[in-house]
Amino acid sequence: MKICLIASEIVPFAKTGGLADVVGAMGKYLSNRGHDARLIMPLYSSVDIRKFNIKPLKAARRCKISFGKQKYIYDFYYADLPQSKAQTYFIHCPALYNRSSIYTNEPDEHIRFALLSKAALELCRRTNWPPDIIHCNDWQTALTPVLLKTQYRRETLFQDTKTLLTIHNIGYQGSFKAEIINDLELSKHYKLFDGADLYGGKLNFLRSGLLHADKISTVSETYAREIQTVEYGEGLQELLQKRAADLTGILNGVDYDAWNPETDKHIPYHYSVKSLSDKKKNKEYLLRQASLKYDSKKPTIGMITRLAAQKGLELLDGVIEKIIVQYDIKLIVLGSGDEQYERYLKALQLQYPKNVVFYQGYNEPLSHLIEAGADIFLMPSRYEPCGMNQIFSLKYGAVPVVRKTGGLADTVEHYNWETQRGDGFVFEHFNKDGFYWALDYAVTTFLHRQAWKKIMKNGMRKDFSWDRQIQRYIDLYEQMTKGKR
Ligand code: ADP
Repeated sequence: MKICLIASEIVPFAKTGGLADVVGAMGKYLSNRGHDARLIMPLYSSVDIRKFNIKPLKAARRCKISFGKQKYIYDFYYADLPQSKAQTYFIHCPALYNRSSIYTNEPDEHIRFALLSKAALELCRRTNWPPDIIHCNDWQTALTPVLLKTQYRRETLFQDTKTLLTIHNIGYQGSFKAEIINDLELSKHYKLFDGADLYGGKLNFLRSGLLHADKISTVSETYAREIQTVEYGEGLQELLQKRAADLTGILNGVDYDAWNPETDKHIPYHYSVKSLSDKKKNKEYLLRQASLKYDSKKPTIGMITRLAAQKGLELLDGVIEKIIVQYDIKLIVLGSGDEQYERYLKALQLQYPKNVVFYQGYNEPLSHLIEAGADIFLMPSRYEPCGMNQIFSLKYGAVPVVRKTGGLADTVEHYNWETQRGDGFVFEHFNKDGFYWALDYAVTTFLHRQAWKKIMKNGMRKDFSWDRQIQRYIDLYEQMTKGKR
Protein backbone atom coordinates (compact mmCIF):
# COMPACT_ATOMS: atom_id res chain seq x y z
CA MET A 1 0.00 0.00 0.00
CA LYS A 2 0.99 3.60 -0.54
CA ILE A 3 0.67 5.38 2.78
CA CYS A 4 1.30 9.05 3.34
CA LEU A 5 1.86 9.87 7.02
CA ILE A 6 1.58 13.53 7.93
CA ALA A 7 2.61 14.85 11.34
CA SER A 8 3.93 17.96 13.03
CA GLU A 9 6.74 16.01 14.73
CA ILE A 10 8.53 12.79 13.85
CA VAL A 11 11.35 10.92 15.62
CA PRO A 12 14.30 11.33 15.15
CA PHE A 13 13.94 14.72 13.44
CA ALA A 14 11.79 16.66 15.92
CA LYS A 15 9.99 15.65 19.07
CA THR A 16 8.09 17.16 21.95
CA GLY A 17 6.07 14.09 22.95
CA GLY A 18 4.67 10.66 22.16
CA LEU A 19 3.27 11.71 18.76
CA ALA A 20 6.78 11.90 17.34
CA ASP A 21 7.70 8.45 18.71
CA VAL A 22 4.60 6.93 17.16
CA VAL A 23 4.79 8.40 13.67
CA GLY A 24 8.53 7.73 13.34
CA ALA A 25 8.07 4.12 14.40
CA MET A 26 5.05 3.62 12.17
CA GLY A 27 6.95 4.83 9.11
CA LYS A 28 9.76 2.44 9.91
CA TYR A 29 7.60 -0.60 10.62
CA LEU A 30 5.27 -0.03 7.65
CA SER A 31 8.16 0.24 5.26
CA ASN A 32 9.92 -2.75 6.78
CA ARG A 33 6.71 -4.72 6.06
CA GLY A 34 7.10 -3.76 2.40
CA HIS A 35 4.66 -0.86 2.22
CA ASP A 36 5.48 2.37 0.44
CA ALA A 37 5.30 4.69 3.44
CA ARG A 38 6.21 8.34 2.97
CA LEU A 39 6.29 10.80 5.82
CA ILE A 40 5.91 14.53 5.74
CA MET A 41 6.61 17.21 8.33
CA PRO A 42 7.80 20.84 8.52
CA LEU A 43 11.50 21.61 8.31
CA TYR A 44 11.79 23.49 11.59
CA SER A 45 14.99 25.42 12.14
CA SER A 46 15.74 22.99 14.99
CA VAL A 47 15.94 19.99 12.62
CA ASP A 48 19.58 18.96 12.14
CA ILE A 49 19.99 19.00 8.34
CA ARG A 50 23.58 17.78 8.40
CA LYS A 51 23.15 14.98 10.87
CA PHE A 52 20.25 13.47 8.93
CA ASN A 53 21.63 14.29 5.49
CA ILE A 54 18.52 16.20 4.47
CA LYS A 55 18.67 17.33 0.84
CA PRO A 56 16.58 19.55 -1.44
CA LEU A 57 14.08 17.75 -3.64
CA LYS A 58 14.64 18.87 -7.22
CA ALA A 59 11.20 17.77 -8.44
CA ALA A 60 9.44 20.38 -6.35
CA ARG A 61 11.22 23.69 -6.00
CA ARG A 62 9.95 27.17 -5.20
CA CYS A 63 6.29 26.28 -4.77
CA LYS A 64 4.01 29.26 -4.35
CA ILE A 65 1.07 29.36 -1.99
CA SER A 66 -1.23 32.02 -0.66
CA PHE A 67 -3.24 32.19 2.52
CA GLY A 68 -5.53 35.16 2.04
CA LYS A 69 -3.31 38.19 1.60
CA GLN A 70 -0.18 36.37 2.74
CA LYS A 71 2.00 34.79 0.10
CA TYR A 72 4.70 32.22 0.77
CA ILE A 73 7.29 30.32 -1.21
CA TYR A 74 8.36 26.91 0.01
CA ASP A 75 10.53 24.01 -1.11
CA PHE A 76 10.62 20.33 -0.29
CA TYR A 77 13.59 18.53 1.22
CA TYR A 78 13.94 14.82 1.85
CA ALA A 79 15.91 12.26 3.84
CA ASP A 80 15.80 8.58 4.66
CA LEU A 81 13.99 7.69 7.82
CA PRO A 82 16.78 5.93 9.76
CA GLN A 83 16.70 2.10 9.78
CA SER A 84 14.10 1.92 7.03
CA LYS A 85 13.38 2.54 3.39
CA ALA A 86 10.68 5.09 4.17
CA GLN A 87 11.32 8.50 2.76
CA THR A 88 10.68 11.57 4.89
CA TYR A 89 9.81 14.84 3.18
CA PHE A 90 10.20 18.21 4.80
CA ILE A 91 8.48 21.47 3.98
CA HIS A 92 11.06 24.22 3.92
CA CYS A 93 9.39 27.56 4.54
CA PRO A 94 11.61 29.64 6.82
CA ALA A 95 9.01 32.40 7.11
CA LEU A 96 6.77 29.93 8.95
CA TYR A 97 9.05 27.35 10.50
CA ASN A 98 12.11 29.27 11.69
CA ARG A 99 10.82 29.82 15.20
CA SER A 100 12.25 29.15 18.63
CA SER A 101 9.88 26.23 19.21
CA ILE A 102 7.85 23.74 17.20
CA TYR A 103 4.52 25.09 18.45
CA THR A 104 3.88 28.78 19.08
CA ASN A 105 1.14 31.14 20.20
CA GLU A 106 1.86 33.46 17.30
CA PRO A 107 -0.93 34.84 15.13
CA ASP A 108 0.00 32.73 12.10
CA GLU A 109 -0.10 29.36 13.91
CA HIS A 110 -3.09 28.27 11.79
CA ILE A 111 -1.17 29.07 8.61
CA ARG A 112 1.89 27.15 9.77
CA PHE A 113 -0.12 23.95 9.96
CA ALA A 114 -2.55 24.66 7.13
CA LEU A 115 0.59 24.69 5.01
CA LEU A 116 1.58 21.28 6.37
CA SER A 117 -1.86 19.84 5.47
CA LYS A 118 -1.81 21.36 2.02
CA ALA A 119 1.82 20.83 1.09
CA ALA A 120 1.39 17.10 1.77
CA LEU A 121 -1.18 16.97 -1.04
CA GLU A 122 1.02 19.15 -3.26
CA LEU A 123 3.91 16.79 -2.72
CA CYS A 124 1.82 13.82 -3.87
CA ARG A 125 0.71 15.82 -6.91
CA ARG A 126 4.16 17.04 -7.87
CA THR A 127 5.73 13.62 -7.49
CA ASN A 128 2.72 11.99 -9.18
CA TRP A 129 2.27 9.59 -6.29
CA PRO A 130 -1.33 8.53 -5.59
CA PRO A 131 -1.56 7.45 -1.94
CA ASP A 132 -4.05 4.75 -0.96
CA ILE A 133 -4.17 6.20 2.53
CA ILE A 134 -3.40 9.61 3.89
CA HIS A 135 -2.88 9.15 7.60
CA CYS A 136 -3.27 12.45 9.44
CA ASN A 137 -2.23 12.95 13.04
CA ASP A 138 -3.76 15.48 15.43
CA TRP A 139 -5.14 18.93 14.68
CA GLN A 140 -2.05 20.13 12.84
CA THR A 141 -2.90 17.86 9.92
CA ALA A 142 -6.68 17.67 10.29
CA LEU A 143 -7.39 20.05 7.43
CA THR A 144 -6.24 17.54 4.82
CA PRO A 145 -9.58 15.63 4.63
CA VAL A 146 -11.34 18.99 4.15
CA LEU A 147 -8.92 20.02 1.39
CA LEU A 148 -9.54 16.74 -0.42
CA LYS A 149 -13.26 17.58 -0.49
CA THR A 150 -12.72 21.17 -1.63
CA GLN A 151 -9.60 22.53 -3.29
CA TYR A 152 -8.43 19.06 -4.40
CA ARG A 153 -11.76 17.42 -5.17
CA ARG A 154 -11.17 17.37 -8.92
CA GLU A 155 -7.65 15.96 -8.62
CA THR A 156 -7.86 12.50 -10.19
CA LEU A 157 -4.69 11.46 -8.38
CA PHE A 158 -6.70 11.29 -5.15
CA GLN A 159 -9.86 9.68 -6.50
CA ASP A 160 -9.26 6.44 -4.56
CA THR A 161 -7.42 7.97 -1.61
CA LYS A 162 -8.89 7.38 1.86
CA THR A 163 -8.15 9.44 4.95
CA LEU A 164 -7.53 8.31 8.50
CA LEU A 165 -7.28 10.89 11.28
CA THR A 166 -5.62 9.73 14.49
CA ILE A 167 -6.28 11.61 17.71
CA HIS A 168 -3.15 11.49 19.85
CA ASN A 169 -4.51 14.01 22.34
CA ILE A 170 -7.97 15.54 22.21
CA GLY A 171 -6.86 18.28 24.62
CA TYR A 172 -5.24 20.12 21.71
CA GLN A 173 -7.71 20.97 18.94
CA GLY A 174 -6.35 23.94 17.02
CA SER A 175 -9.25 26.27 17.70
CA PHE A 176 -8.92 29.66 16.03
CA LYS A 177 -11.07 32.68 15.26
CA ALA A 178 -13.67 31.96 12.58
CA GLU A 179 -12.22 34.72 10.35
CA ILE A 180 -9.25 32.52 9.53
CA ILE A 181 -11.56 30.73 7.09
CA ASN A 182 -10.55 33.56 4.73
CA ASP A 183 -6.84 32.81 5.21
CA LEU A 184 -7.60 29.19 4.43
CA GLU A 185 -9.44 30.35 1.29
CA LEU A 186 -12.32 28.06 2.24
CA SER A 187 -15.05 30.62 2.97
CA LYS A 188 -17.19 29.48 0.07
CA HIS A 189 -17.15 25.98 1.59
CA TYR A 190 -18.24 27.19 5.02
CA LYS A 191 -20.94 24.51 5.11
CA LEU A 192 -18.27 21.86 5.51
CA PHE A 193 -17.30 23.36 8.87
CA ASP A 194 -19.27 23.01 12.08
CA GLY A 195 -22.04 25.61 11.99
CA ALA A 196 -22.24 26.08 15.76
CA ASP A 197 -18.48 26.64 15.95
CA LEU A 198 -18.54 29.26 13.19
CA TYR A 199 -21.59 30.92 14.71
CA GLY A 200 -19.73 31.07 18.01
CA GLY A 201 -16.81 32.75 16.22
CA LYS A 202 -14.52 29.72 16.12
CA LEU A 203 -12.99 27.40 13.57
CA ASN A 204 -11.70 24.19 15.05
CA PHE A 205 -9.19 22.21 12.96
CA LEU A 206 -9.62 18.92 14.80
CA ARG A 207 -13.42 19.01 14.70
CA SER A 208 -13.31 19.81 10.97
CA GLY A 209 -11.03 16.87 10.31
CA LEU A 210 -13.19 14.54 12.40
CA LEU A 211 -16.22 15.55 10.37
CA HIS A 212 -14.58 14.63 7.06
CA ALA A 213 -11.97 11.92 7.59
CA ASP A 214 -13.07 8.51 6.27
CA LYS A 215 -11.98 6.83 9.49
CA ILE A 216 -10.90 8.01 12.91
CA SER A 217 -8.59 6.31 15.33
CA THR A 218 -7.08 7.04 18.68
CA VAL A 219 -4.21 5.52 20.58
CA SER A 220 -5.86 3.13 23.03
CA GLU A 221 -9.14 1.30 23.31
CA THR A 222 -10.05 2.86 26.63
CA TYR A 223 -9.39 6.38 25.31
CA ALA A 224 -11.58 5.62 22.27
CA ARG A 225 -14.45 5.01 24.71
CA GLU A 226 -13.54 7.87 27.04
CA ILE A 227 -13.52 10.58 24.37
CA GLN A 228 -17.16 9.83 23.66
CA THR A 229 -18.05 11.07 27.16
CA VAL A 230 -18.50 14.58 28.54
CA GLU A 231 -15.70 14.03 31.04
CA TYR A 232 -13.02 13.35 28.42
CA GLY A 233 -14.44 14.50 25.07
CA GLU A 234 -13.40 18.18 25.42
CA GLY A 235 -16.54 19.23 23.57
CA LEU A 236 -16.13 16.73 20.71
CA GLN A 237 -17.96 13.86 22.43
CA GLU A 238 -21.22 14.22 20.49
CA LEU A 239 -19.48 14.25 17.15
CA LEU A 240 -17.46 11.20 18.18
CA GLN A 241 -20.59 9.39 19.36
CA LYS A 242 -22.11 10.01 15.93
CA ARG A 243 -19.01 8.66 14.27
CA ALA A 244 -18.56 5.76 16.70
CA ALA A 245 -18.82 3.17 13.90
CA ASP A 246 -15.77 4.74 12.22
CA LEU A 247 -13.74 5.17 15.42
CA THR A 248 -11.15 2.58 16.51
CA GLY A 249 -8.67 2.48 19.38
CA ILE A 250 -5.24 1.08 18.53
CA LEU A 251 -2.68 1.03 21.29
CA ASN A 252 0.69 2.55 20.41
CA GLY A 253 3.62 0.21 20.10
CA VAL A 254 7.13 0.80 21.35
CA ASP A 255 10.24 0.78 19.27
CA TYR A 256 12.31 -1.68 21.30
CA ASP A 257 15.33 -0.92 19.09
CA ALA A 258 15.48 2.36 21.00
CA TRP A 259 13.90 1.35 24.32
CA ASN A 260 15.43 -1.88 25.53
CA PRO A 261 17.57 -2.15 28.69
CA GLU A 262 19.59 -4.93 27.05
CA THR A 263 20.88 -2.68 24.28
CA ASP A 264 20.08 0.95 25.23
CA LYS A 265 22.98 3.16 24.16
CA HIS A 266 22.14 5.80 26.75
CA ILE A 267 22.55 3.67 29.87
CA PRO A 268 25.85 2.57 31.42
CA TYR A 269 24.82 -0.96 32.47
CA HIS A 270 22.71 -3.26 30.35
CA TYR A 271 20.33 -5.70 32.03
CA SER A 272 17.43 -8.01 31.42
CA VAL A 273 14.95 -10.19 33.32
CA LYS A 274 17.85 -12.59 33.85
CA SER A 275 20.29 -10.02 35.23
CA LEU A 276 18.18 -7.75 37.38
CA SER A 277 21.03 -6.96 39.74
CA ASP A 278 22.63 -4.89 36.97
CA LYS A 279 19.66 -2.54 37.16
CA LYS A 280 20.94 -1.57 40.61
CA LYS A 281 24.18 -0.29 39.07
CA ASN A 282 22.13 2.10 36.94
CA LYS A 283 20.30 3.24 40.07
CA GLU A 284 23.60 3.93 41.77
CA TYR A 285 24.88 5.78 38.71
CA LEU A 286 21.70 7.85 38.41
CA LEU A 287 21.79 8.84 42.08
CA ARG A 288 25.48 9.71 41.89
CA GLN A 289 24.77 11.97 38.89
CA ALA A 290 21.97 13.57 40.89
CA SER A 291 24.20 13.91 43.99
CA LEU A 292 21.74 11.86 46.04
CA LYS A 293 22.73 9.10 48.45
CA TYR A 294 22.30 5.54 47.22
CA ASP A 295 20.53 3.07 49.46
CA SER A 296 19.45 -0.22 47.92
CA LYS A 297 16.67 -0.57 50.51
CA LYS A 298 15.00 2.72 49.68
CA PRO A 299 13.16 3.18 46.43
CA THR A 300 14.06 5.76 43.84
CA ILE A 301 11.04 7.21 42.13
CA GLY A 302 11.26 8.64 38.62
CA MET A 303 9.05 10.87 36.53
CA ILE A 304 9.58 12.16 32.98
CA THR A 305 6.90 14.38 31.67
CA ARG A 306 5.63 17.47 30.00
CA LEU A 307 4.65 19.65 32.91
CA ALA A 308 1.02 20.08 31.93
CA ALA A 309 -2.28 19.85 33.81
CA GLN A 310 -3.03 16.59 31.96
CA LYS A 311 -0.19 14.82 33.74
CA GLY A 312 -1.67 15.06 37.25
CA LEU A 313 1.21 16.96 38.82
CA GLU A 314 -1.14 18.64 41.27
CA LEU A 315 -1.63 15.25 42.94
CA LEU A 316 2.04 15.25 43.99
CA ASP A 317 1.63 18.29 46.22
CA GLY A 318 1.33 17.05 49.79
CA VAL A 319 1.48 13.36 48.91
CA ILE A 320 5.14 13.27 47.92
CA GLU A 321 6.13 15.25 51.01
CA LYS A 322 4.34 12.68 53.20
CA ILE A 323 5.99 9.76 51.43
CA ILE A 324 9.44 11.39 51.74
CA VAL A 325 9.01 11.91 55.48
CA GLN A 326 7.64 8.38 56.01
CA TYR A 327 10.05 6.38 53.85
CA ASP A 328 13.01 8.61 52.92
CA ILE A 329 12.49 7.85 49.22
CA LYS A 330 14.39 9.63 46.42
CA LEU A 331 12.49 11.43 43.69
CA ILE A 332 14.00 12.41 40.34
CA VAL A 333 11.83 14.41 37.95
CA LEU A 334 12.71 15.44 34.40
CA GLY A 335 10.38 17.82 32.64
CA SER A 336 9.50 21.23 31.39
CA GLY A 337 6.34 23.14 30.72
CA ASP A 338 3.91 25.14 32.84
CA GLU A 339 5.60 27.52 35.19
CA GLN A 340 3.41 26.67 38.20
CA TYR A 341 4.64 23.06 38.16
CA GLU A 342 8.24 24.10 37.60
CA ARG A 343 7.93 26.37 40.62
CA TYR A 344 6.45 23.58 42.74
CA LEU A 345 9.19 21.12 41.80
CA LYS A 346 11.95 23.65 42.42
CA ALA A 347 10.47 24.41 45.84
CA LEU A 348 10.19 20.69 46.61
CA GLN A 349 13.88 20.24 45.77
CA LEU A 350 14.81 23.16 48.03
CA GLN A 351 12.74 21.75 50.85
CA TYR A 352 14.11 18.21 50.53
CA PRO A 353 17.59 18.57 48.97
CA LYS A 354 18.59 15.07 50.12
CA ASN A 355 15.58 13.46 48.51
CA VAL A 356 14.50 15.41 45.43
CA VAL A 357 16.20 16.43 42.23
CA PHE A 358 14.30 18.29 39.54
CA TYR A 359 15.91 18.44 36.10
CA GLN A 360 14.22 21.20 34.20
CA GLY A 361 14.33 20.73 30.44
CA TYR A 362 14.16 18.16 27.72
CA ASN A 363 16.91 15.54 27.78
CA GLU A 364 16.65 12.32 25.79
CA PRO A 365 19.68 10.45 27.24
CA LEU A 366 18.68 11.37 30.80
CA SER A 367 15.15 10.08 30.15
CA HIS A 368 16.61 6.64 29.36
CA LEU A 369 18.86 6.72 32.43
CA ILE A 370 15.92 7.58 34.71
CA GLU A 371 13.95 4.61 33.34
CA ALA A 372 16.94 2.36 33.96
CA GLY A 373 17.71 3.71 37.43
CA ALA A 374 14.26 4.19 38.93
CA ASP A 375 12.49 1.53 41.00
CA ILE A 376 9.11 3.19 40.65
CA PHE A 377 7.76 5.42 37.90
CA LEU A 378 4.93 7.95 38.36
CA MET A 379 2.14 8.73 35.89
CA PRO A 380 -0.87 9.92 37.87
CA SER A 381 -2.47 11.46 34.77
CA ARG A 382 -5.82 13.19 34.72
CA TYR A 383 -6.19 11.72 31.26
CA GLU A 384 -3.71 9.79 29.09
CA PRO A 385 -4.54 8.86 25.47
CA CYS A 386 -1.89 6.13 25.42
CA GLY A 387 1.21 7.22 27.31
CA MET A 388 4.62 5.96 26.31
CA ASN A 389 6.61 6.30 29.49
CA GLN A 390 4.69 3.71 31.47
CA ILE A 391 5.31 1.23 28.65
CA PHE A 392 9.03 2.03 28.65
CA SER A 393 8.94 1.71 32.45
CA LEU A 394 7.46 -1.78 32.29
CA LYS A 395 10.31 -2.84 30.02
CA TYR A 396 12.93 -1.22 32.29
CA GLY A 397 11.59 -2.70 35.52
CA ALA A 398 10.65 0.75 36.84
CA VAL A 399 7.32 -0.30 38.29
CA PRO A 400 4.63 2.17 37.21
CA VAL A 401 2.19 3.88 39.58
CA VAL A 402 -0.60 5.12 37.33
CA ARG A 403 -4.17 6.27 37.28
CA LYS A 404 -6.67 4.00 35.61
CA THR A 405 -7.36 6.05 32.50
CA GLY A 406 -6.80 5.77 28.74
CA GLY A 407 -3.72 3.82 27.70
CA LEU A 408 -2.53 3.56 31.31
CA ALA A 409 -5.56 1.37 32.04
CA ASP A 410 -4.81 -0.75 28.96
CA THR A 411 -1.13 -1.37 29.69
CA VAL A 412 -0.60 -1.56 33.46
CA GLU A 413 -2.16 -4.32 35.53
CA HIS A 414 -2.65 -3.68 39.22
CA TYR A 415 -0.57 -5.96 41.44
CA ASN A 416 -2.43 -8.58 43.40
CA TRP A 417 -0.69 -10.01 46.50
CA GLU A 418 -2.67 -13.24 46.44
CA THR A 419 -2.12 -14.24 42.85
CA GLN A 420 1.20 -12.37 42.38
CA ARG A 421 -0.15 -11.19 39.08
CA GLY A 422 0.23 -7.63 37.92
CA ASP A 423 3.03 -5.25 37.04
CA GLY A 424 2.15 -1.91 38.63
CA PHE A 425 -0.03 0.01 41.05
CA VAL A 426 -3.23 1.49 39.69
CA PHE A 427 -5.60 3.94 41.37
CA GLU A 428 -8.99 4.76 40.03
CA HIS A 429 -10.14 8.25 40.98
CA PHE A 430 -8.26 11.43 40.26
CA ASN A 431 -7.62 12.60 43.81
CA LYS A 432 -4.79 12.70 46.34
CA ASP A 433 -6.19 9.89 48.48
CA GLY A 434 -6.12 7.52 45.53
CA PHE A 435 -2.63 8.56 44.52
CA TYR A 436 -1.33 8.29 48.07
CA TRP A 437 -2.88 4.84 48.45
CA ALA A 438 -1.20 3.54 45.27
CA LEU A 439 2.19 5.12 45.95
CA ASP A 440 2.23 3.98 49.57
CA TYR A 441 1.29 0.47 48.42
CA ALA A 442 4.15 0.52 45.90
CA VAL A 443 6.73 1.80 48.37
CA THR A 444 5.79 -0.75 51.04
CA THR A 445 5.72 -3.59 48.52
CA PHE A 446 9.22 -2.56 47.39
CA LEU A 447 10.49 -3.65 50.82
CA HIS A 448 9.44 -7.23 50.01
CA ARG A 449 12.25 -8.16 47.66
CA GLN A 450 10.76 -11.36 46.28
CA ALA A 451 7.37 -9.85 45.57
CA TRP A 452 9.04 -6.84 43.98
CA LYS A 453 11.20 -8.94 41.69
CA LYS A 454 8.11 -10.76 40.51
CA ILE A 455 6.34 -7.48 39.73
CA MET A 456 9.36 -6.22 37.78
CA LYS A 457 9.61 -9.44 35.82
CA ASN A 458 5.91 -9.47 35.04
CA GLY A 459 6.28 -6.03 33.47
CA MET A 460 9.57 -6.69 31.69
CA ARG A 461 8.10 -9.74 29.97
CA LYS A 462 5.19 -7.82 28.47
CA ASP A 463 5.37 -7.13 24.76
CA PHE A 464 4.12 -3.86 23.32
CA SER A 465 6.30 -3.96 20.23
CA TRP A 466 5.38 -2.20 17.01
CA ASP A 467 5.98 -5.53 15.31
CA ARG A 468 2.61 -6.52 16.72
CA GLN A 469 0.73 -3.23 16.83
CA ILE A 470 1.53 -2.22 13.25
CA GLN A 471 -0.63 -5.08 12.02
CA ARG A 472 -3.67 -3.39 13.55
CA TYR A 473 -3.06 -0.35 11.35
CA ILE A 474 -2.40 -2.47 8.28
CA ASP A 475 -5.71 -4.28 8.87
CA LEU A 476 -7.49 -0.95 9.19
CA TYR A 477 -5.86 0.45 6.02
CA GLU A 478 -6.85 -2.72 4.16
CA GLN A 479 -10.41 -2.47 5.35
CA MET A 480 -10.50 1.18 4.22
CA THR A 481 -9.23 0.47 0.74
CA LYS A 482 -11.11 -2.77 0.15
CA GLY A 483 -12.11 -3.10 -3.49
CA LYS A 484 -10.20 0.04 -4.43
CA ARG A 485 -6.80 -1.38 -5.21
P1 ADP B 1 2.88 13.04 25.80
O1 ADP B 1 2.96 12.73 24.35
O2 ADP B 1 1.51 13.37 26.29
O3 ADP B 1 3.88 14.05 26.23
P2 ADP B 1 3.76 10.30 26.18
O4 ADP B 1 4.01 9.52 27.42
O5 ADP B 1 2.85 9.70 25.16
O6 ADP B 1 3.26 11.72 26.64
O7 ADP B 1 5.14 10.57 25.44
C1 ADP B 1 6.12 11.40 25.98
C2 ADP B 1 7.41 11.15 25.24
O8 ADP B 1 8.22 12.31 25.39
C3 ADP B 1 8.19 10.01 25.80
O9 ADP B 1 9.00 9.44 24.80
C4 ADP B 1 9.03 10.70 26.87
O10 ADP B 1 10.19 9.98 27.21
C5 ADP B 1 9.36 11.98 26.19
N1 ADP B 1 9.61 13.10 27.09
C6 ADP B 1 8.69 13.87 27.73
N2 ADP B 1 9.29 14.83 28.46
C7 ADP B 1 10.62 14.68 28.28
C8 ADP B 1 11.77 15.37 28.76
N3 ADP B 1 11.67 16.41 29.58
N4 ADP B 1 12.99 14.94 28.36
C9 ADP B 1 13.09 13.87 27.53
N5 ADP B 1 12.05 13.17 27.04
C10 ADP B 1 10.82 13.58 27.41
